[in-house]
Amino acid sequence: MDVSLFELFSVGIGPSSSHTNGPMTAACDFVDRLREQGGLERTARLEVTLYGSLAATGRGHGTFGAVLLGLEGNRPEIVLPDHVDKRLAELDEGSPLILGGDGPQLDYGIKDMILQPRIQLPRHPNGMTIKAFDANDELIYELTSFSIGGGFVVHEGDEDASGGKSDAAGDPATAENSGGASPEASPQGRDVPYPFFNGDQLLARCQESGLDVAGVMMANEAKGRSEEEVREGVLHLWQVMEECKNNSLKRSGCLPGGLKTRRRAPEWHKRLSISDPEFDIWSWVEWVNLVALAVNEENASGGRIVTAPTNGAAGVIPAVIFYANHYTDRARQGGRAARPDIVVDFLLAAGAVGVVIKQQASISGAEVGCQGEVGSAASMAAAGLAQVMGGSPDQVSKAAEIAMEHHLGMTCDPIGGLVQVPCIERNAIAAVTAVNAARMALMDPEGYMVSLDQVIATMKSTGADMSSKYKETAEGGLAVNVPYC
Ligand code: SF4
Repeated sequence: MDVSLFELFSVGIGPSSSHTNGPMTAACDFVDRLREQGGLERTARLEVTLYGSLAATGRGHGTFGAVLLGLEGNRPEIVLPDHVDKRLAELDEGSPLILGGDGPQLDYGIKDMILQPRIQLPRHPNGMTIKAFDANDELIYELTSFSIGGGFVVHEGDEDASGGKSDAAGDPATAENSGGASPEASPQGRDVPYPFFNGDQLLARCQESGLDVAGVMMANEAKGRSEEEVREGVLHLWQVMEECKNNSLKRSGCLPGGLKTRRRAPEWHKRLSISDPEFDIWSWVEWVNLVALAVNEENASGGRIVTAPTNGAAGVIPAVIFYANHYTDRARQGGRAARPDIVVDFLLAAGAVGVVIKQQASISGAEVGCQGEVGSAASMAAAGLAQVMGGSPDQVSKAAEIAMEHHLGMTCDPIGGLVQVPCIERNAIAAVTAVNAARMALMDPEGYMVSLDQVIATMKSTGADMSSKYKETAEGGLAVNVPYC
């Protein structure tokens, strides 16, 4: 296995895992490597070039500010949203950039960045190069990095995808501000009891072991740490998801970015809390919609968020967890006390499917369109819910397949390059689809025409065929048909 659940789900800031968190991590990695080589103090000038989608939609996705903060030594899993706002305002007002947070003060800002939206580096559409020069304008160090989706970053010249979103994330069970796990604490690149790279292998590991999908994932994640630590790490992620939703419900007004997108979740919450205080089954769609909207509105505000598997798609899984915690037999029978167990099973099964998608295709909107972001989130959520509803491994896999199948071809066309329209509403629609997919899979225990691996392969090839206009460049679809000033 190449990916751990704690890499797939990690804590960062909004609005984008690939365009905010990834570039911040890449810039921070650059500074760390520059420091290791003894070049930090000698640096007199920086040159940052953003390519492809990072340049095309970087303004709306917060990429440029994220790079500056990364160059000051901040990492998305630990930086606080308040610090982001404060420091970006200071830099905007002319404060010098403090390289590494304690190094030389440089006159460098967003206006100095070189944007190359028409140039895509061969490895991935989200490429960036940072160079440091000394006082004689001699190159000290340069690093080309790729933000490959979900906050994952790879650096050119490294043997393989770092996979780690960050070299500095703490252990999942202990990190105060992070749900991310360090590469050492994850099963990445090392033996796990039940390795799987695709859906068929996942089902085979279940059959061999007699475990369900969540059980296989738990056994793998518990390699090198206890099951209790895994459980604590998973529950920490859920806690951040809950805080994200709750923070969003306290806000009011429009979202930042100039699109004047109205926050809907706080008002909906007030009305629903009055009309349906007992979470009646007839209102489940409204509640699921509400949770998805709340999480994605908080993401669009630059708030603290769990990538699930990306920021733009971060509302789907919390919304379907809400359904699992309120409307399933386990929730009805176990009440509030059952919720932690439900969430752990849910996120383990969802994570197993996310691992397969990440290994077989992509979770990057810039690479395969929104089918890879919201489509993947729906697929993972459907798997998690099917697991909680008592589905067999085949049914969990089928739920994931159904949800992905009906997101195939979905483009990425955010208006103004902001992660707001269609992204926020799309999460709600996908969450409801995921519930439906799980329920369909549970109705039909046997036989289906399309396998999980086949639908993932289809998503990948469809993404490869998709015009770049529909892959996080804001050059097609709603982004050009809806006027934005
Ligand atoms: S349209 Fe989908 S992939 Fe594109 S930014 Fe929005 S959520 Fe992400």
